[in-house]
Amino acid sequence: MSNTLKSNFAYANKLASATNNFLESAMQQLAYSAKKIEQNIDDNTLLQAEVTRLNRQTNSFNSVIINKYGIISATSPELPLIIDQPLSSPGATQAFKERRPLISDSYMSKSGNLIVFISHPLFSSKGDYLGYIGGSLYLKERSILNDLLEHHYFEGGTHIYVVDTKKRILYHPDSARIGTFLANNKVINQVLMGNDGIAHINNSQNIHMLAGYAPVKLANWGIIAQRPIKVTLSSLDTLIIAVIKRTLPIVIIIFILIGLFAHFISKPLKRLADIANRTDELNHESELKKVKSWYFESQQLKTAMLKGESVLQLQIGQLRHDAQTDPLTGIHNRRSLKVWLDKLIHEQTLFTILEIDIDFFKRVNDTYGHDKGDEALKALTKLIQSVARKDDIVARIGGEEFVLVIPNQNSEGAFKIAERLRLAVESSHIDTVGYITISIGIASYPEHGTNIEQVFKKADNALYYAKEHGRNRSVIANLIE
Ligand code: GH3
Ligand code: MG
Ligand code: MG
Repeated sequence: MSNTLKSNFAYANKLASATNNFLESAMQQLAYSAKKIEQNIDDNTLLQAEVTRLNRQTNSFNSVIINKYGIISATSPELPLIIDQPLSSPGATQAFKERRPLISDSYMSKSGNLIVFISHPLFSSKGDYLGYIGGSLYLKERSILNDLLEHHYFEGGTHIYVVDTKKRILYHPDSARIGTFLANNKVINQVLMGNDGIAHINNSQNIHMLAGYAPVKLANWGIIAQRPIKVTLSSLDTLIIAVIKRTLPIVIIIFILIGLFAHFISKPLKRLADIANRTDELNHESELKKVKSWYFESQQLKTAMLKGESVLQLQIGQLRHDAQTDPLTGIHNRRSLKVWLDKLIHEQTLFTILEIDIDFFKRVNDTYGHDKGDEALKALTKLIQSVARKDDIVARIGGEEFVLVIPNQNSEGAFKIAERLRLAVESSHIDTVGYITISIGIASYPEHGTNIEQVFKKADNALYYAKEHGRNRSVIANLIE
Protein backbone atom coordinates (compact mmCIF):
# COMPACT_ATOMS: atom_id res chain seq x y z
CA MET A 1 0.00 0.00 0.00
CA SER A 2 2.78 2.35 0.91
CA ASN A 3 4.58 1.56 -2.37
CA THR A 4 1.43 2.21 -4.40
CA LEU A 5 0.84 5.52 -2.63
CA LYS A 6 4.43 6.55 -3.23
CA SER A 7 4.46 5.59 -6.88
CA ASN A 8 1.11 7.31 -7.50
CA PHE A 9 2.48 10.40 -5.80
CA ALA A 10 5.59 10.38 -8.00
CA TYR A 11 3.51 9.68 -11.08
CA ALA A 12 1.06 12.55 -10.43
CA ASN A 13 3.98 14.90 -9.86
CA LYS A 14 5.70 13.84 -13.04
CA LEU A 15 2.57 14.31 -15.13
CA ALA A 16 1.88 17.65 -13.46
CA SER A 17 5.31 18.92 -14.38
CA ALA A 18 5.01 17.58 -17.95
CA THR A 19 1.63 19.30 -18.31
CA ASN A 20 3.05 22.47 -16.83
CA ASN A 21 5.93 22.35 -19.32
CA PHE A 22 3.53 21.89 -22.20
CA LEU A 23 1.38 24.84 -21.12
CA GLU A 24 4.46 26.94 -20.61
CA SER A 25 5.77 26.18 -24.08
CA ALA A 26 2.33 26.79 -25.64
CA MET A 27 2.25 30.20 -23.98
CA GLN A 28 5.76 30.95 -25.21
CA GLN A 29 4.76 30.03 -28.75
CA LEU A 30 1.82 32.44 -28.53
CA ALA A 31 4.06 35.14 -27.04
CA TYR A 32 6.50 34.70 -29.92
CA SER A 33 3.75 34.91 -32.52
CA ALA A 34 2.22 37.93 -30.75
CA LYS A 35 5.51 39.77 -30.95
CA LYS A 36 5.77 38.93 -34.63
CA ILE A 37 2.31 40.21 -35.64
CA GLU A 38 2.00 43.23 -33.35
CA GLN A 39 4.11 45.26 -35.82
CA ASN A 40 2.05 44.20 -38.85
CA ILE A 41 -1.42 44.10 -37.36
CA ASP A 42 -3.05 45.37 -40.51
CA ASP A 43 -1.48 42.77 -42.79
CA ASN A 44 -4.27 40.18 -42.84
CA THR A 45 -2.30 37.83 -45.08
CA LEU A 46 0.50 37.75 -42.55
CA LEU A 47 -1.96 37.17 -39.73
CA GLN A 48 -3.49 34.23 -41.61
CA ALA A 49 -0.05 32.86 -42.41
CA GLU A 50 0.96 33.07 -38.73
CA VAL A 51 -2.13 31.25 -37.36
CA THR A 52 -1.73 28.56 -40.02
CA ARG A 53 1.96 28.09 -39.11
CA LEU A 54 1.18 27.97 -35.42
CA ASN A 55 -1.58 25.43 -35.85
CA ARG A 56 0.16 23.17 -38.37
CA GLN A 57 3.75 23.46 -37.30
CA THR A 58 3.52 23.21 -33.58
CA ASN A 59 0.61 20.82 -33.10
CA SER A 60 0.04 22.49 -29.72
CA PHE A 61 -3.51 23.62 -30.46
CA ASN A 62 -6.63 22.24 -32.11
CA SER A 63 -7.35 25.67 -33.50
CA VAL A 64 -5.74 29.09 -33.48
CA ILE A 65 -7.38 32.51 -33.95
CA ILE A 66 -6.45 36.16 -33.94
CA ASN A 67 -8.91 38.63 -32.49
CA LYS A 68 -8.23 42.14 -33.71
CA TYR A 69 -10.20 45.07 -32.32
CA GLY A 70 -12.89 42.68 -31.05
CA ILE A 71 -13.49 40.78 -34.28
CA ILE A 72 -11.94 37.63 -35.73
CA SER A 73 -9.41 38.38 -38.39
CA ALA A 74 -7.69 35.01 -38.92
CA THR A 75 -8.40 31.36 -37.99
CA SER A 76 -6.75 28.02 -38.49
CA PRO A 77 -8.26 25.77 -39.59
CA GLU A 78 -9.67 28.37 -41.92
CA LEU A 79 -13.32 29.23 -41.29
CA PRO A 80 -14.30 32.00 -43.77
CA LEU A 81 -17.79 32.16 -42.24
CA ILE A 82 -16.69 33.59 -38.93
CA ILE A 83 -14.06 35.98 -40.26
CA ASP A 84 -14.93 39.56 -39.34
CA GLN A 85 -17.44 38.29 -36.76
CA PRO A 86 -17.20 39.17 -33.07
CA LEU A 87 -16.42 36.21 -30.82
CA SER A 88 -18.52 35.65 -27.73
CA SER A 89 -17.23 32.39 -26.25
CA PRO A 90 -16.35 32.55 -22.53
CA GLY A 91 -12.66 32.00 -23.37
CA ALA A 92 -12.65 34.83 -25.92
CA THR A 93 -14.52 37.17 -23.59
CA GLN A 94 -12.16 36.38 -20.69
CA ALA A 95 -9.06 36.97 -22.87
CA PHE A 96 -10.43 40.23 -24.18
CA LYS A 97 -11.31 41.40 -20.70
CA GLU A 98 -8.13 40.46 -18.87
CA ARG A 99 -5.62 41.58 -21.54
CA ARG A 100 -2.82 39.34 -20.25
CA PRO A 101 -1.29 35.96 -21.10
CA LEU A 102 -4.07 33.59 -20.02
CA ILE A 103 -5.15 29.98 -19.71
CA SER A 104 -8.92 30.21 -19.58
CA ASP A 105 -11.29 28.24 -17.42
CA SER A 106 -12.62 25.28 -19.33
CA TYR A 107 -15.96 25.83 -21.05
CA MET A 108 -18.32 24.02 -23.35
CA SER A 109 -18.51 25.41 -26.88
CA LYS A 110 -21.77 25.68 -28.80
CA SER A 111 -20.74 22.66 -30.88
CA GLY A 112 -20.27 20.63 -27.65
CA ASN A 113 -16.51 20.76 -27.43
CA LEU A 114 -14.88 21.11 -24.04
CA ILE A 115 -12.36 23.82 -24.59
CA VAL A 116 -9.43 25.41 -22.81
CA PHE A 117 -8.33 28.61 -24.46
CA ILE A 118 -4.74 29.85 -24.20
CA SER A 119 -4.12 33.40 -25.34
CA HIS A 120 -1.60 36.18 -25.48
CA PRO A 121 -2.56 39.89 -25.77
CA LEU A 122 -1.47 42.09 -28.69
CA PHE A 123 -0.30 45.62 -28.01
CA SER A 124 0.79 48.34 -30.45
CA SER A 125 4.23 49.89 -30.08
CA LYS A 126 2.48 52.76 -28.29
CA GLY A 127 0.97 50.33 -25.83
CA ASP A 128 -2.62 50.36 -27.15
CA TYR A 129 -4.51 47.10 -26.76
CA LEU A 130 -5.11 45.54 -30.15
CA GLY A 131 -6.61 42.16 -29.34
CA TYR A 132 -5.09 38.76 -28.82
CA ILE A 133 -3.80 35.62 -30.45
CA GLY A 134 -5.17 32.44 -28.89
CA GLY A 135 -5.13 28.66 -29.32
CA SER A 136 -7.86 26.20 -28.28
CA LEU A 137 -7.44 22.73 -26.84
CA TYR A 138 -10.44 20.46 -27.54
CA LEU A 139 -10.39 18.21 -24.55
CA LYS A 140 -12.97 15.72 -25.79
CA GLU A 141 -11.17 15.27 -29.05
CA ARG A 142 -7.65 14.21 -29.67
CA SER A 143 -5.38 16.95 -28.41
CA ILE A 144 -1.80 17.22 -27.36
CA LEU A 145 -2.94 17.21 -23.73
CA ASN A 146 -4.84 13.92 -24.18
CA ASP A 147 -1.83 12.45 -25.93
CA LEU A 148 0.40 13.53 -23.12
CA LEU A 149 -1.80 12.00 -20.41
CA GLU A 150 -2.82 8.90 -22.31
CA HIS A 151 0.70 7.98 -23.37
CA HIS A 152 1.68 7.82 -19.76
CA TYR A 153 -1.24 5.63 -18.95
CA PHE A 154 0.01 3.55 -16.12
CA GLU A 155 -0.55 -0.17 -16.01
CA GLY A 156 -1.56 -2.27 -13.02
CA GLY A 157 -4.91 -0.63 -12.33
CA THR A 158 -3.66 2.89 -11.78
CA HIS A 159 -5.51 5.58 -13.72
CA ILE A 160 -5.28 9.32 -13.67
CA TYR A 161 -7.67 12.20 -14.06
CA VAL A 162 -7.22 15.96 -14.31
CA VAL A 163 -9.50 18.61 -12.83
CA ASP A 164 -9.52 22.31 -13.41
CA THR A 165 -9.99 25.00 -10.84
CA LYS A 166 -13.82 24.70 -11.08
CA LYS A 167 -13.57 20.95 -10.29
CA ARG A 168 -14.49 20.05 -13.84
CA ILE A 169 -12.86 16.91 -15.20
CA LEU A 170 -10.49 17.83 -18.05
CA TYR A 171 -9.17 14.39 -18.61
CA HIS A 172 -10.42 10.97 -17.55
CA PRO A 173 -9.78 7.48 -19.04
CA ASP A 174 -13.58 7.15 -19.22
CA SER A 175 -14.14 9.86 -21.88
CA ALA A 176 -17.84 10.16 -20.93
CA ARG A 177 -16.80 11.77 -17.69
CA ILE A 178 -14.73 14.49 -19.32
CA GLY A 179 -16.53 17.79 -18.81
CA THR A 180 -18.52 16.66 -15.77
CA PHE A 181 -18.06 18.27 -12.38
CA LEU A 182 -16.75 16.48 -9.32
CA ALA A 183 -18.30 16.67 -5.90
CA ASN A 184 -16.20 18.01 -3.06
CA ASN A 185 -13.54 15.67 -1.83
CA LYS A 186 -10.50 16.25 0.29
CA VAL A 187 -8.00 15.33 -2.42
CA ILE A 188 -9.48 17.75 -4.97
CA ASN A 189 -9.56 20.48 -2.34
CA GLN A 190 -5.95 19.89 -1.43
CA VAL A 191 -4.64 19.75 -5.00
CA LEU A 192 -6.54 22.89 -6.03
CA MET A 193 -4.97 24.68 -3.08
CA GLY A 194 -1.67 23.92 -4.79
CA ASN A 195 -0.58 21.03 -2.54
CA ASP A 196 0.70 17.61 -3.51
CA GLY A 197 0.37 14.52 -1.38
CA ILE A 198 -1.08 11.04 -0.87
CA ALA A 199 -4.47 9.92 0.47
CA HIS A 200 -6.89 7.06 0.92
CA ILE A 201 -10.15 8.04 -0.73
CA ASN A 202 -13.42 6.49 -1.79
CA ASN A 203 -14.25 7.32 -5.40
CA SER A 204 -17.74 8.04 -6.75
CA GLN A 205 -18.44 4.29 -6.91
CA ASN A 206 -17.34 4.03 -3.27
CA ILE A 207 -14.22 2.07 -4.19
CA HIS A 208 -11.34 2.48 -1.80
CA MET A 209 -8.46 4.12 -3.71
CA LEU A 210 -4.84 4.78 -2.97
CA ALA A 211 -4.22 8.21 -4.46
CA GLY A 212 -1.29 10.49 -5.17
CA TYR A 213 -1.95 14.06 -6.34
CA ALA A 214 -0.06 17.08 -7.62
CA PRO A 215 -1.04 20.55 -8.89
CA VAL A 216 -0.36 21.98 -12.38
CA LYS A 217 0.63 25.39 -11.05
CA LEU A 218 0.41 27.36 -14.28
CA ALA A 219 -3.29 26.58 -14.83
CA ASN A 220 -4.24 25.78 -11.25
CA TRP A 221 -5.33 22.29 -12.28
CA GLY A 222 -4.92 19.13 -10.29
CA ILE A 223 -3.71 15.73 -11.42
CA ILE A 224 -4.76 12.67 -9.42
CA ALA A 225 -3.26 9.22 -9.93
CA GLN A 226 -5.18 6.51 -8.13
CA ARG A 227 -5.37 2.77 -7.86
CA PRO A 228 -8.01 0.56 -6.16
CA ILE A 229 -6.63 -0.86 -2.94
CA LYS A 230 -8.07 -4.24 -3.97
CA VAL A 231 -5.81 -4.34 -7.00
CA THR A 232 -2.81 -3.53 -4.85
CA LEU A 233 -3.67 -6.22 -2.32
CA SER A 234 -4.74 -8.86 -4.82
CA SER A 235 -1.12 -9.65 -5.55
CA LEU A 236 -0.83 -10.31 -1.85
CA ASP A 237 -3.67 -12.86 -2.02
CA THR A 238 -1.95 -14.70 -4.86
CA LEU A 239 1.26 -14.59 -2.89
CA ILE A 240 -0.40 -16.02 0.19
CA ILE A 241 -2.05 -18.79 -1.83
CA ALA A 242 1.30 -19.57 -3.44
CA VAL A 243 2.97 -19.62 -0.02
CA ILE A 244 0.28 -21.90 1.38
CA LYS A 245 0.55 -24.23 -1.62
CA ARG A 246 4.29 -24.48 -1.25
CA THR A 247 4.42 -24.83 2.50
CA LEU A 248 1.43 -27.14 2.92
CA PRO A 249 3.37 -30.38 2.35
CA ILE A 250 6.05 -29.24 4.79
CA VAL A 251 3.40 -28.24 7.33
CA ILE A 252 1.73 -31.63 6.97
CA ILE A 253 5.05 -33.41 7.39
CA ILE A 254 5.83 -31.28 10.44
CA PHE A 255 2.45 -32.10 11.98
CA ILE A 256 2.98 -35.80 11.34
CA LEU A 257 6.43 -35.55 12.92
CA ILE A 258 5.00 -33.66 15.89
CA GLY A 259 2.35 -36.37 16.23
CA LEU A 260 4.98 -39.11 16.10
CA PHE A 261 7.23 -37.35 18.58
CA ALA A 262 4.31 -36.72 20.91
CA HIS A 263 3.45 -40.42 20.66
CA PHE A 264 7.01 -41.55 21.43
CA ILE A 265 7.38 -39.04 24.23
CA SER A 266 4.10 -39.92 25.86
CA LYS A 267 4.52 -43.67 25.46
CA PRO A 268 6.85 -44.28 28.43
CA LEU A 269 4.88 -41.78 30.51
CA LYS A 270 1.68 -43.62 29.74
CA ARG A 271 3.26 -46.96 30.68
CA LEU A 272 4.64 -45.48 33.91
CA ALA A 273 1.29 -43.92 34.80
CA ASP A 274 -0.41 -47.21 34.06
CA ILE A 275 2.00 -49.12 36.27
CA ALA A 276 1.73 -46.48 39.01
CA ASN A 277 -1.99 -47.27 39.09
CA ARG A 278 -1.35 -50.96 39.70
CA THR A 279 1.02 -50.90 42.69
CA ASP A 280 -0.81 -53.82 44.25
CA GLU A 281 0.21 -56.25 41.52
CA LEU A 282 2.93 -58.82 42.16
CA ASN A 283 5.17 -58.33 39.12
CA HIS A 284 4.97 -54.60 39.55
CA GLU A 285 8.70 -54.01 39.82
CA SER A 286 9.66 -56.15 36.83
CA GLU A 287 6.97 -54.43 34.76
CA LEU A 288 8.50 -51.13 35.76
CA LYS A 289 11.97 -52.27 34.73
CA LYS A 290 10.65 -53.26 31.30
CA VAL A 291 9.48 -49.71 30.46
CA LYS A 292 11.67 -48.24 27.71
CA SER A 293 12.34 -44.78 29.07
CA TRP A 294 14.37 -43.44 26.15
CA TYR A 295 14.74 -39.84 27.24
CA PHE A 296 16.16 -38.22 30.33
CA GLU A 297 12.98 -37.10 32.09
CA SER A 298 11.18 -40.40 31.69
CA GLN A 299 14.35 -42.16 32.85
CA GLN A 300 14.33 -39.94 35.95
CA LEU A 301 10.70 -40.76 36.55
CA LYS A 302 11.32 -44.46 36.17
CA THR A 303 14.31 -44.37 38.52
CA ALA A 304 12.29 -42.45 41.09
CA MET A 305 9.45 -44.95 40.81
CA LEU A 306 11.84 -47.88 41.14
CA LYS A 307 13.41 -46.25 44.16
CA GLY A 308 9.99 -45.68 45.68
CA GLU A 309 9.13 -49.25 44.89
CA SER A 310 12.24 -50.62 46.60
CA VAL A 311 11.73 -48.39 49.66
CA LEU A 312 8.17 -49.67 49.82
CA GLN A 313 9.31 -53.27 49.49
CA LEU A 314 11.95 -52.70 52.16
CA GLN A 315 9.38 -51.25 54.50
CA ILE A 316 6.93 -54.03 53.79
CA GLY A 317 9.75 -56.55 54.41
CA GLN A 318 10.61 -54.80 57.66
CA LEU A 319 6.99 -54.76 58.77
CA ARG A 320 6.61 -58.41 57.85
CA HIS A 321 9.76 -59.23 59.76
CA ASP A 322 8.58 -57.17 62.75
CA ALA A 323 5.21 -58.88 62.68
CA GLN A 324 6.85 -62.29 62.78
CA THR A 325 9.69 -61.59 65.19
CA ASP A 326 9.91 -61.48 68.95
CA PRO A 327 11.45 -58.08 69.67
CA LEU A 328 13.45 -59.18 72.74
CA THR A 329 15.20 -62.21 71.31
CA GLY A 330 14.88 -61.76 67.55
CA ILE A 331 13.46 -65.26 67.06
CA HIS A 332 10.02 -66.25 65.73
CA ASN A 333 6.97 -65.16 67.72
CA ARG A 334 3.75 -67.09 68.24
CA ARG A 335 2.19 -65.84 64.98
CA SER A 336 5.18 -66.79 62.90
CA LEU A 337 5.42 -70.17 64.57
CA LYS A 338 1.82 -70.88 63.65
CA VAL A 339 2.59 -70.14 59.99
CA TRP A 340 5.51 -72.59 60.00
CA LEU A 341 3.53 -75.31 61.71
CA ASP A 342 0.62 -74.86 59.28
CA LYS A 343 3.11 -75.28 56.48
CA LEU A 344 4.54 -78.48 57.96
CA ILE A 345 1.08 -79.93 58.48
CA HIS A 346 0.09 -78.89 54.98
CA GLU A 347 3.13 -80.73 53.64
CA GLN A 348 2.35 -83.67 55.94
CA THR A 349 5.80 -83.45 57.45
CA LEU A 350 6.10 -85.16 60.78
CA PHE A 351 7.62 -83.02 63.53
CA THR A 352 8.12 -82.79 67.25
CA ILE A 353 7.75 -79.77 69.46
CA LEU A 354 9.69 -79.08 72.65
CA GLU A 355 7.77 -76.72 74.90
CA ILE A 356 10.38 -75.11 77.15
CA ASP A 357 9.62 -73.21 80.40
CA ILE A 358 12.20 -71.76 82.82
CA ASP A 359 11.94 -73.09 86.34
CA PHE A 360 11.14 -70.59 89.08
CA PHE A 361 11.76 -67.68 86.78
CA LYS A 362 9.62 -65.43 88.93
CA ARG A 363 12.26 -65.87 91.58
CA VAL A 364 15.03 -64.91 89.12
CA ASN A 365 13.16 -61.69 88.36
CA ASP A 366 12.51 -61.03 91.99
CA THR A 367 16.16 -61.57 92.87
CA TYR A 368 17.94 -59.80 90.00
CA GLY A 369 15.29 -57.54 88.56
CA HIS A 370 13.30 -57.71 85.34
CA ASP A 371 16.11 -56.40 83.12
CA LYS A 372 18.51 -59.11 84.21
CA GLY A 373 15.68 -61.59 83.69
CA ASP A 374 15.47 -60.36 80.07
CA GLU A 375 19.21 -60.98 79.67
CA ALA A 376 18.65 -64.51 80.89
CA LEU A 377 15.90 -64.96 78.27
CA LYS A 378 18.36 -63.89 75.57
CA ALA A 379 21.03 -66.24 76.90
CA LEU A 380 18.56 -69.12 76.89
CA THR A 381 17.60 -68.24 73.31
CA LYS A 382 21.26 -68.64 72.28
CA LEU A 383 21.45 -72.03 74.05
CA ILE A 384 18.30 -73.25 72.27
CA GLN A 385 19.65 -72.03 68.92
CA SER A 386 22.94 -73.85 69.60
CA VAL A 387 21.21 -77.22 69.79
CA ALA A 388 18.79 -76.46 66.94
CA ARG A 389 19.63 -77.59 63.43
CA LYS A 390 19.21 -75.66 60.21
CA ASP A 391 15.61 -76.65 59.56
CA ASP A 392 14.48 -76.36 63.19
CA ILE A 393 12.29 -73.47 64.27
CA VAL A 394 13.00 -71.58 67.48
CA ALA A 395 10.15 -69.40 68.83
CA ARG A 396 9.25 -67.50 71.96
CA ILE A 397 5.54 -67.95 72.62
CA GLY A 398 5.11 -66.30 76.01
CA GLY A 399 7.05 -64.56 78.81
CA GLU A 400 9.65 -67.22 79.54
CA GLU A 401 8.18 -69.97 77.39
CA PHE A 402 9.95 -71.14 74.23
CA VAL A 403 9.20 -73.73 71.57
CA LEU A 404 11.67 -75.66 69.51
CA VAL A 405 10.12 -77.39 66.48
CA ILE A 406 12.15 -80.21 65.02
CA PRO A 407 10.84 -81.38 61.64
CA ASN A 408 11.21 -85.04 60.60
CA GLN A 409 11.90 -86.10 64.16
CA ASN A 410 9.79 -88.35 66.35
CA SER A 411 9.38 -87.83 70.05
CA GLU A 412 12.12 -90.27 70.97
CA GLY A 413 14.73 -88.59 68.80
CA ALA A 414 13.52 -85.22 70.03
CA PHE A 415 13.78 -86.34 73.61
CA LYS A 416 17.54 -86.80 73.16
CA ILE A 417 17.82 -83.28 71.82
CA ALA A 418 15.67 -81.98 74.69
CA GLU A 419 17.90 -83.62 77.18
CA ARG A 420 20.98 -82.23 75.51
CA LEU A 421 19.45 -78.76 75.75
CA ARG A 422 18.31 -79.20 79.32
CA LEU A 423 21.78 -80.32 80.41
CA ALA A 424 23.42 -77.53 78.46
CA VAL A 425 21.19 -74.94 80.22
CA GLU A 426 21.70 -76.51 83.59
CA SER A 427 25.46 -76.39 83.19
CA SER A 428 25.68 -72.93 81.62
CA HIS A 429 26.56 -70.02 83.85
CA ILE A 430 24.59 -67.00 82.75
CA ASP A 431 26.45 -63.77 83.47
CA THR A 432 23.63 -61.85 85.00
CA VAL A 433 21.65 -64.46 86.92
CA GLY A 434 23.97 -67.43 87.42
CA TYR A 435 22.45 -70.86 86.77
CA ILE A 436 18.92 -71.60 85.62
CA THR A 437 17.12 -74.82 84.75
CA ILE A 438 14.31 -75.55 82.34
CA SER A 439 11.50 -78.07 82.06
CA ILE A 440 10.51 -79.43 78.64
CA GLY A 441 7.25 -80.96 77.44
CA ILE A 442 7.56 -83.03 74.24
CA ALA A 443 4.78 -83.94 71.75
CA SER A 444 4.88 -85.05 68.10
CA TYR A 445 2.75 -84.72 65.03
CA PRO A 446 1.02 -86.90 64.04
CA GLU A 447 2.02 -89.17 66.93
CA HIS A 448 0.18 -87.16 69.62
CA GLY A 449 -2.32 -85.18 67.69
CA THR A 450 -3.69 -84.59 64.18
CA ASN A 451 -3.75 -80.84 64.52
CA ILE A 452 -1.60 -78.15 66.11
CA GLU A 453 -3.95 -77.54 69.04
CA GLN A 454 -3.91 -81.20 70.01
CA VAL A 455 -0.15 -81.47 69.77
CA PHE A 456 0.29 -78.33 71.90
CA LYS A 457 -2.21 -79.55 74.44
CA LYS A 458 -0.19 -82.74 74.80
CA ALA A 459 3.08 -80.81 75.10
CA ASP A 460 1.45 -78.56 77.73
CA ASN A 461 0.42 -81.56 79.70
CA ALA A 462 3.89 -83.07 79.50
CA LEU A 463 5.43 -79.77 80.64
CA TYR A 464 2.97 -79.58 83.53
CA TYR A 465 3.93 -83.10 84.44
CA ALA A 466 7.62 -82.18 84.40
CA LYS A 467 6.94 -79.22 86.67
CA GLU A 468 4.88 -81.37 88.98
CA HIS A 469 7.59 -84.00 89.18
CA GLY A 470 10.50 -81.92 90.32
CA ARG A 471 11.26 -79.63 87.32
CA ASN A 472 14.58 -79.60 85.34
CA ARG A 473 13.44 -82.53 83.27
CA SER A 474 12.12 -83.53 79.83
CA VAL A 475 8.85 -85.42 79.50
CA ILE A 476 7.32 -87.04 76.37
CA ALA A 477 3.55 -86.66 76.15
CA ASN A 478 2.44 -90.26 75.71
CA LEU A 479 4.49 -91.50 78.66
CA ILE A 480 2.23 -89.71 81.13
CA GLU A 481 -1.09 -91.16 80.01
P1 GH3 B 1 7.68 -72.42 87.41
O1 GH3 B 1 7.62 -72.13 85.98
O2 GH3 B 1 8.87 -73.21 87.73
O3 GH3 B 1 6.43 -73.01 87.94
O4 GH3 B 1 7.88 -71.09 88.16
P2 GH3 B 1 7.94 -69.67 87.58
O5 GH3 B 1 8.34 -68.71 88.54
O6 GH3 B 1 8.79 -69.69 86.36
O7 GH3 B 1 6.44 -69.49 87.22
P3 GH3 B 1 5.76 -69.05 85.92
O8 GH3 B 1 6.33 -69.79 84.79
O9 GH3 B 1 4.27 -69.10 86.08
O10 GH3 B 1 6.19 -67.52 85.94
C1 GH3 B 1 6.48 -66.76 84.84
C2 GH3 B 1 7.28 -65.60 85.32
O11 GH3 B 1 8.18 -65.19 84.32
C3 GH3 B 1 6.41 -64.40 85.64
C4 GH3 B 1 7.24 -63.22 85.29
O12 GH3 B 1 7.84 -62.68 86.44
C5 GH3 B 1 8.34 -63.80 84.45
N1 GH3 B 1 8.30 -63.25 83.15
C6 GH3 B 1 7.30 -63.39 82.20
N2 GH3 B 1 7.64 -62.72 81.06
C7 GH3 B 1 8.87 -62.10 81.31
C8 GH3 B 1 9.71 -61.29 80.55
O13 GH3 B 1 9.45 -60.94 79.40
N3 GH3 B 1 10.89 -60.86 81.13
C9 GH3 B 1 11.24 -61.20 82.38
N4 GH3 B 1 12.37 -60.74 82.89
N5 GH3 B 1 10.42 -61.95 83.14
C10 GH3 B 1 9.27 -62.44 82.61
MG1 MG C 1 5.92 -70.16 82.49
MG1 MG D 1 8.49 -70.93 84.50
